[in-house]
Amino acid sequence: MTALSQPPPSPAAPASAPTPANDAIIQKAKRHLLQNYKQQPVVLVRGKGTRVWDADGREYLDLLGGIATCSLGHCHPEVTAAAKAQLDSLWHVSNVFYSQPQIDLAAQLTEWSGLPRAFFCNSGGEANEALLKLTRKVMKDRGTPERFEVISFEKSFHGRTLATVTATGQPKYHAGFEPLPAGFKHLPYGDIDAVRAAVGPSSAAILVEPIQGEGGVRMAPPGFLTALRALCDEKGLLLLVDEVQTGMGRTGKPFGFMHEGIRPDAISVAKALGNGLPIGAMLCREELGSSLVPGTHGSTFGGNLVAAAAANVVLRILRQPETLKAVTEKGAHFLARARELQARLPAGRIVAVRGQGLLLGLELDRDVAPVIASLREAGLLVNAAGDRTVRFAPPFVVTTQELDEGLAIVERVLAAL
Ligand SMILES: *Cc1c(COP(=O)(O)O)cnc(C)c1O
Repeated sequence: MTALSQPPPSPAAPASAPTPANDAIIQKAKRHLLQNYKQQPVVLVRGKGTRVWDADGREYLDLLGGIATCSLGHCHPEVTAAAKAQLDSLWHVSNVFYSQPQIDLAAQLTEWSGLPRAFFCNSGGEANEALLKLTRKVMKDRGTPERFEVISFEKSFHGRTLATVTATGQPKYHAGFEPLPAGFKHLPYGDIDAVRAAVGPSSAAILVEPIQGEGGVRMAPPGFLTALRALCDEKGLLLLVDEVQTGMGRTGKPFGFMHEGIRPDAISVAKALGNGLPIGAMLCREELGSSLVPGTHGSTFGGNLVAAAAANVVLRILRQPETLKAVTEKGAHFLARARELQARLPAGRIVAVRGQGLLLGLELDRDVAPVIASLREAGLLVNAAGDRTVRFAPPFVVTTQELDEGLAIVERVLAAL
């Protein structure tokens, strides 16, 4: 377990002190950054394990982990060492040439996922874009070009490129960007009858998250992925699973689809793959991969040597059986404690406790944004998923004591509402 060890917890700093260093940097941000994010007013400058510090030295318990990204914790020593060693030998050569870290990573990822072909890119959106392009090309190559429509789900999140945001089943992300690309349809998540009724001669693929992370940590009902797999087999559709948030061990299995024992046609991964370095991948079945012949798709930075070197260590650690066993146990601990908290608070304040492994959500009876701000002021970093859900996606190195510490802060803030 040395790979998961970290410094002992220390108390979060009080929030009310003046913050001149943070304030000065934020002033500069407001002058120069595109104002497309609702950013929390802190500048984070240092991290270790589950702790981060801001420019004025305040300490936070980070149970968000860069949005389900730094799964081995901030500045994990072995991952950091691998990235540093790669920085000293070779950074980037492009995919005009072969590079060893990328090939090793492809070998690890394909073995772990059971999908034998890997394409590397730099983000989740790009990995999903590859799924969409793969789908269209496969259908052309099969001689069924009339099949181009991708079915995805309401409240889903698949990215911000024009195609992936169109696949995203949230009208608020579409507004202002019309006309949207053709060939997308959204259906209620978990409703297999609606999917069956919607499949027609133009249907090409179903794109689904095992748990809707951004959409509020909503889990697919048991059997849903299995039923989608059967429907895809029956109708000749591809089953695409977006594992950008649920993959890389987050739910306690290597990939979310594995809880149902199915085999997707292709999946996307990104967030936790590089423990914070930008890297994504599309993994697919052999016969589908053969549609993307030279010239059809690519990425200049995809599979960059430094990101791939880090990701190789991430995978090596995640593939040790005790790592994911701990994710399952810690997640179960959180769910049990969160349900006790739900029972202690005024009825209905926590509407629902949801999640699997270390992707966890508390749905509240109100807009979550001011609560997130209060939690941060009390020393806890989390974020909103949907309008009413507090999302926890802590690094896997989190201890049960730290999860309790986080929930104690939640209790104080929610009890004072
Ligand atoms: C975050 C996320 C994406 C988008 O990933 P980016 O790296 O921001 O492009 C896509 N799908 C899911 C399920 C995600 O959680």
